Amino acid sequence: MLVNEVRESLIEAAKEARKWAYAPYSQYPVGAALFTASGRIYEGVNVENAAFPMTICAERVAIFKAVSEGEREFRAIAVVTKNGGSPCGACRQVLAEFGLETVVIIADEEGRLRRETTVAELLPESFGPPDLDR
Ligand SMILES: [Zn+2]
Repeated sequence: MLVNEVRESLIEAAKEARKWAYAPYSQYPVGAALFTASGRIYEGVNVENAAFPMTICAERVAIFKAVSEGEREFRAIAVVTKNGGSPCGACRQVLAEFGLETVVIIADEEGRLRRETTVAELLPESFGPPDLDR
């Protein structure tokens, strides 16, 4: 599990990033902060679109930013919403691609920890890279 310092700074980073969410339709801004094995933090926010399916979640923005800069190993991701909402199925699948042991920290807009879990717990019996090798 995570040391308290890392947990707190990730929640704070996600909370700060949330200010930049583009959520005019749902009015549900989300901030995410992804901590990689290299020690960097990548932030993300949800970016909605008038063509609704084009919307992307904060978690995937953070993951894609990290991957596009060469990161492949993740330690933890913090997600901050108004009420401590949990990552959606699509984001769980994208997280699973890079490791089932990634810690998922869920907090509310006050920065209160609501839940700390792992990708494996959020997405049991997932389909991932090893399945393609069988
Ligand atoms: Zn999502």
